[in-house]
Amino acid sequence: MWYCEVPNGEPLIMEKGCLFCQISSGETDTEFLFDNDTLVVFKDINPAAPVHLLIVPRKHIRSINDLTEADQPILSEMIMVARDMAVQHGVDKSGYRLFINVERGGGQVIFHLHLHLIAGWK
Ligand code: AMP
Ligand code: ZN
Repeated sequence: MWYCEVPNGEPLIMEKGCLFCQISSGETDTEFLFDNDTLVVFKDINPAAPVHLLIVPRKHIRSINDLTEADQPILSEMIMVARDMAVQHGVDKSGYRLFINVERGGGQVIFHLHLHLIAGWK
């Protein structure tokens, strides 16, 4: 673990070698569709549907299993931002799917919490 300063001055917990820590801290050229102090949103590199976005907290949290009471606002913001992204992509009315894979048996391959938004089937 290491700590990274963010614009609001609060130290942020990150994990060395974690791809989503690297992406969310701007170490890669991944384009953000949305970002704020809490989270970033970018397109999945291997989309499972016409729209496939990842909503990723900046804080390194391995999985749902590692959430603490203090993380509740992060989770709530992830869902609200997903809702807004669905509107932006014009899929709110047609419908979309939100899911979180938990650990290997649940299909998680990147061990930094993230919410999938998939949509856009005809
Ligand atoms: P999960 O199986 O829930 O851990 O999902 C990880 C997701 O991250 C997969 O759908 C991958 O396609 C996606 N992914 C892996 N590397 C990248 C990357 N560099 N940029 C965007 N998405 C990625
Ligand atoms: Zn991470």
